[in-house]
Amino acid sequence: MYIARDVLTQKKEKQMDKYEILKKHFGYDTFRQAQETLIDSILDGKDTLGIMPTGAGKSLCYQIPALLMEGVTLVISPLISLMKDQVAGLNQAGIHAAFLNSSLTPGQYRKALGFAMQGRYPIIYVAPERLVTPEFLEFALHTSIAMVAVDEAHCVSQWGQDFRPSYLKIVEFIGKLPERPVLSAFTATATKEVRDDIIDILQLRDPTVMTTGFDRSNLYFGVVSVKDRYGAVKNYLEAHREESGIIYCLTRKHVEEVCGRLIRDGFSVTRYHAGLSDEERRKNQDDFIYDRVAVIVATNAFGMGIDKSNVRFVLHYGMPKNPESYYQEAGRAGRDGAPAQCMLYYSGQDVATNQLFIEHNQDNQELDEVTRAIVMERDRLRLKKMTFYCFTNDCLRDYILQYFGEYGSNYCGNCSNCLTRFEEVDVTKIAAALLGCVKTSRQRYGVTVVLDTLRGARTAKIREYGMDQNPHYGELEQVPVHRLRQVLNYLQLQEYVFVTGDTYAVVKLTEKAADVLERGERIVMKLAKETERAPKSRDDDRKKRKTHGLPEDGRFGETEENLFEKLRRLRTELAREAKIPPYMVFSDKTLTHMCLVKPVTKGEMLTVSGVGDYKFEKYGEEFLQCIAAFKEELEKEGNRQQEGT
Ligand code: ADP
Ligand code: MG
Ligand code: ZN
Repeated sequence: MYIARDVLTQKKEKQMDKYEILKKHFGYDTFRQAQETLIDSILDGKDTLGIMPTGAGKSLCYQIPALLMEGVTLVISPLISLMKDQVAGLNQAGIHAAFLNSSLTPGQYRKALGFAMQGRYPIIYVAPERLVTPEFLEFALHTSIAMVAVDEAHCVSQWGQDFRPSYLKIVEFIGKLPERPVLSAFTATATKEVRDDIIDILQLRDPTVMTTGFDRSNLYFGVVSVKDRYGAVKNYLEAHREESGIIYCLTRKHVEEVCGRLIRDGFSVTRYHAGLSDEERRKNQDDFIYDRVAVIVATNAFGMGIDKSNVRFVLHYGMPKNPESYYQEAGRAGRDGAPAQCMLYYSGQDVATNQLFIEHNQDNQELDEVTRAIVMERDRLRLKKMTFYCFTNDCLRDYILQYFGEYGSNYCGNCSNCLTRFEEVDVTKIAAALLGCVKTSRQRYGVTVVLDTLRGARTAKIREYGMDQNPHYGELEQVPVHRLRQVLNYLQLQEYVFVTGDTYAVVKLTEKAADVLERGERIVMKLAKETERAPKSRDDDRKKRKTHGLPEDGRFGETEENLFEKLRRLRTELAREAKIPPYMVFSDKTLTHMCLVKPVTKGEMLTVSGVGDYKFEKYGEEFLQCIAAFKEELEKEGNRQQEGT
């Protein structure tokens, strides 16, 4: 019987420590906060649970100990695409790793298992349903297994959105092993239910638990409320050509529409939704991951298992159903830590669309009456919280963090609200008229009827409802309708009114409304300054740049931008030859750093974050040459200009 001896001796020979591995294989100089604690805990032989947001660097937390521990590390991962991605990434970093899942033919599977038995791989990715198969057990029982690392560990929990029954096999598998390996688990889902489930179900023993904050400081958050949504999205893409991004739509129909129009308008886009054939979905996803198209237009079916690190923007063409979904989807931007943008293009219609989704949720049809009512109520509440995200004039990041139970700073300086200049405006008169109109019409009508009444509209509907006789008819004729909406939204946010969740959305008053109507309370709200021309936002500044993923610290000028383009093109070429996604050659962040350092020697190149010995061997020389050629070109140009003057 083969035992993983090779691995053991190989490791002992190397005698590397965690810092050396970090530098040599991954090209980084320092661990991020929490990574080191988690790694040390595992190396101490303790069970370990890491709860960190997307992009925080969870993989390294088990990959580095795996290279230092004696024996094999099994990594459990829910999706084939994730496993492939991780193994390809490790191979790029000069680490032997393999995956065992249903994408392999029986022949390939046996071959991989054979190599594993010879101790070729310190890290093996396994699909959970494989664990307790006779063939795999045979291997596991005769190999020294140092650690079982459970990635996306929230999949064990029925509370999570991605429950996988096969994850329950992990415990069964561990029970069969002669010696219990160290257990580690990682997830980006922060709720208490999920965390408790992970500890209970995986039976973690006195685990070290690390939770880091959920803020993603490199992400810019913006909410845009416009009539011409398509136009806005198109403008955005125009200003961010060449960048990789995702556009999320609420429905398949929207995906088709938006994708079709963008193609006709000459953009490099593809589409993704559950209505397409498996084959087309796979192809479109690959086109996106391999940067063959810049942008993918998708429903929420797209994204789980996408580790593409150079997504520079996530646009929401419509408001998702709750803040959890929003943060998860938006969070797919900027995994590499470089600046990225998350824009939500909101329209009032989105609320109704989502209400319909809640009403007709197929998943709920099987629930009993009472449970279904509770679930629907919870979903309505979440939808409301999501709607308020679109209305609020306070810091957007703060709003999200508070929703997840954290406290922000009230001012992040990197969201559309923090960057808009607001002024306090007394809107009592408008508010009182709105509330009065709702009250005198006996709370029977929806938003449109109320606003039309106040604006004095002469429509058949208004006459039919007799609203032209309402005491408030025409009272706010002079006020632009968008202002009326803003105030109504604000009244909703502050809970003076609410809009019912039924098929016919009706505006109703809360008890608080009487404070304004009867007790003379004043309503003052923050409104964007309109006197000067629209404030020059950071986004406008960014429009001039070719790529907003570039740092804004002044050191990054036109020269660096041009170099970045050159390096990016080289990256695409090399990736094509190696048949891997470009971000796996070097991340956007590594390329930007390279543009600042402009290394000439190998030594200098190795100081760039993300360039380790192994990557250097593969790609270093080519990048050095590219930079040298660029510098030479610059010098020539400089000389030419001098001669010219
Ligand atoms: P997660 O699984 O938590 O979403 P990943 O493990 O995929 O995150 O890592 C996200 C990105 O962060 C990767 O590009 C990775 O190379 C990078 N990264 C991880 N650790 C570090 C570090 N210590 N310094 C710099 N970059 C890092
Ligand atoms: Mg991960
Ligand atoms: Zn902010």
